[in-house]
Amino acid sequence: MKIICVGRNYAAHVEELKNEKSESPILFLKPDTTILQKNQPFFIPPFSDDIHYEVEVLVKIEKLGKHIQSQFAHKYYSQIGLGIDFTARSVQNELKKKGLPWEKAKAFDGSSLIGEWFDKKTFESLENLSFSLEKNGRKVQVGNTANMLWKIDELISYCSQYFTLKIGDILFTGTPSGVGRVSLEDHLVGYLEEKQVFSVKIK
Ligand code: ZN
Repeated sequence: MKIICVGRNYAAHVEELKNEKSESPILFLKPDTTILQKNQPFFIPPFSDDIHYEVEVLVKIEKLGKHIQSQFAHKYYSQIGLGIDFTARSVQNELKKKGLPWEKAKAFDGSSLIGEWFDKKTFESLENLSFSLEKNGRKVQVGNTANMLWKIDELISYCSQYFTLKIGDILFTGTPSGVGRVSLEDHLVGYLEEKQVFSVKIK
């Protein structure tokens, strides 16, 4: 399976990192070795102590497809989740400056936290889904899918023009503003609407 991530999908986050707004979704891939095993802590990697959390709504692909039209995209998923796209920010900034690929900053082992999955029917509307991240009991990121620059179905359609989507692939739909650094012994808890979806310790 592969993980497809979307960058700069919330205007407020684009501004906080002083990035330019993009005319089309920014995509990057993470291999399956990035998945943080269930109930394991996240270990700060030896090559960077500037690791940021990015809480994101996740979509699990359950049907093979390519060149999917937006109006049919909903047939390709029924499960929605929440996760963290851990990012070595200083490494990413270095790579960005040089115009180099982001993998060392984004696709390192353990950098994809995937929480519990829910049937999409659990939610009234996927276009008005609130989510948040707490660090040590304090809310640090609050988002709503209503503020996505590209909606889930548009993202699936766009991604599938480039990559064949396979059963089990996971889409990370981008992070809202409020990203920040993690420190040893931090405790991160993610919420989708009112449901607690994951809890992780930083080691
Ligand atoms: Zn991200």
